[in-house]
Amino acid sequence: MKGNCDLCGKYGYLELHHIFGGANRSLSEKYGLVVNLCHECHNEPPDGVHFNAENMLALRKWAQKQAMENYGWDEAEFIRIFGRSYL
Ligand SMILES: [Zn+2]
Ligand SMILES: [Zn+2]
Repeated sequence: MKGNCDLCGKYGYLELHHIFGGANRSLSEKYGLVVNLCHECHNEPPDGVHFNAENMLALRKWAQKQAMENYGWDEAEFIRIFGRSYL
């Protein structure tokens, strides 16, 4: 799929990234906490989120805030569902 990267805005081929992976991958899907990223922002050093802990955390903070706002959750409710808070 082609489009604009959700992080850098560049147009090109996109990769789907689950913002909360591992055990929370299916929850990310359920609640729409996924983004479309270009390969550089997704899975390429030094800035790709799978290589850059700071960028990964920034994305998780952003997604947690979005989810809390969209679903009317407080922080405790987010933790109940996802296991921890990233704020
Ligand atoms: Zn990008
Ligand atoms: Zn990913």
